[in-house]
Amino acid sequence: MLQNEAMAEFLKAEIAEKGPMDIATFMDHILAHPEMGYYRRQDPFGERGDFMTSPEISQLFGEMIGVWAADIWMQMGKPSPFAFVEVGPGRGTLMADMMRACKGVEGFHEAARIFMIETSPVLRRKQEKTLKGHKAQWFERFEDAPPDMPMILIGNEFLDALPVHQLVKTGKIWRERVIILAQGEPKPIGGMQGALQALAPNLLGGGPEGNLDFRYDTKEAAAELLALVPDGLPEVPDGNIFEVSPQRDEFVRLASRRIREHGGAALFIDYGSAESVIGSGLHAIFRHAHIDVLKNPGHADISSNVDFGAVRRVGEAEGLKISGGITQGEFLQALGIEMRAEMLSRKASTKQKEDLQSGLYKLVEMDQMGDFIVMGLSYGPDIIPAGF
Ligand code: SAH
Repeated sequence: MLQNEAMAEFLKAEIAEKGPMDIATFMDHILAHPEMGYYRRQDPFGERGDFMTSPEISQLFGEMIGVWAADIWMQMGKPSPFAFVEVGPGRGTLMADMMRACKGVEGFHEAARIFMIETSPVLRRKQEKTLKGHKAQWFERFEDAPPDMPMILIGNEFLDALPVHQLVKTGKIWRERVIILAQGEPKPIGGMQGALQALAPNLLGGGPEGNLDFRYDTKEAAAELLALVPDGLPEVPDGNIFEVSPQRDEFVRLASRRIREHGGAALFIDYGSAESVIGSGLHAIFRHAHIDVLKNPGHADISSNVDFGAVRRVGEAEGLKISGGITQGEFLQALGIEMRAEMLSRKASTKQKEDLQSGLYKLVEMDQMGDFIVMGLSYGPDIIPAGF
């Protein structure tokens, strides 16, 4: 059975047994199911994978973030040891590039304890290879990484992998969006028809694909979710969607608490909005193209737009200073990415020069990755994160 068929069967059985499935549970199954989860079983990056991320586009990205981290570390008074944490590190390219960029910063390598937070065994093996020569430790959950030292935490395209719930405006109130089976609950069929159903389901209509169809419905939203809807959202007509993510909020809260207790900063970069906005950001991407979220669930990456308004609210409630959100283009330019590209170009071959130029273009231009949002969270009056 194809991987995505197995996932569709699993989702169908879950819905048949437990009833309508909320979007967060749906996302969680698709991304993190122990055997079939999208990130658990493959390396999705690069031109031959499903999507391209900034660290995979050009070394310039990791170098700039590395410089950002070294600057924070110096502002913190060069604590040794400190936790250099990356959440959702993909192929490990960003951490490797950051460490290389910080080689010349005296004491940084000796002080950094690298902690990689990764759920996927496939990607963890890739990261171990990429980081050969560095002492790094891996944890499946951020909660499990040693909590008792200052921390610099980096997350590129991590927050968008955490599940969201969707609320739908329905007659002045918000209800929660759920997924049900398009053909209703499967009913046992007896007699001749039952035998036919088992042997040749396509003869009974719908075809083999028909069974895999899911559709949206709504249910009453829990108070816990409604509490996450901020004041000041515009009044919108029925059918509009607002996304909330208790899981994402909880992660940001935990990271913020550690930063408040031991000092440090976090940097999050993701596709999304600098403030909370109405709209569904849920999307499935397969081989660099958007596909229907409900079609063949499991063979495509599924992610949401990150609401940096929510990240800001959680960080502020924990007493942290928030920098940004600004665009990735603005951030990288403020850190001097153009100068760095020019410097590298001086000793580069023609081909390398072209790669640097196209990498720079993809990282900063607004119709490329330049419109990603960057937000910093820090603690301590003397710490001013660079680039904002
Ligand atoms: N930062 C990388 C990869 C982004 S993709 C890059 O920019 O290239 C998302 C990453 O987060 C993958 O490594 C995925 O396996 C990991 N991931 C997804 N959900 C996670 C979770 N709940 N905890 C830890 N890692 C997770």
